[in-house]
Amino acid sequence: MSEKKEKLDEQKQEEEDLFKDIEDWLNLDEEEETVSFKCMDCGCIDQVPTYIIGEFSYDLEEGEEVELECPECNGTLREAKESPEVKE
Ligand SMILES: [Zn+2]
Repeated sequence: MSEKKEKLDEQKQEEEDLFKDIEDWLNLDEEEETVSFKCMDCGCIDQVPTYIIGEFSYDLEEGEEVELECPECNGTLREAKESPEVKE
C-alpha cells in the first residue's frame, strides 16, 4: 500500500465520519424517544428518555417496574401507562 493511498483513505474516512454526524443529527428526534412518567405523589408528568429507563431497568427483578425520583417533590415516578380499558 503506497503512502499516497493511505492518505486518501484517511481523508475518505473523515468524510464518512462527517456524514455520520449529520445522519445522527437528522435522526436526533427518533433517537431521543421518551416515555411519560407520572409522579405518585404530586402527579406531575416527566418525559424520560428511553436510554435512562434502560439503565434503571438493568438490575430490576422480573415484573418490577422502573421507579425514578420526581424532580418536583422527590417522590416516586412510575411509567404512566395508557389504560388498557380504553381499547375497544
Ligand atoms: Zn412529584
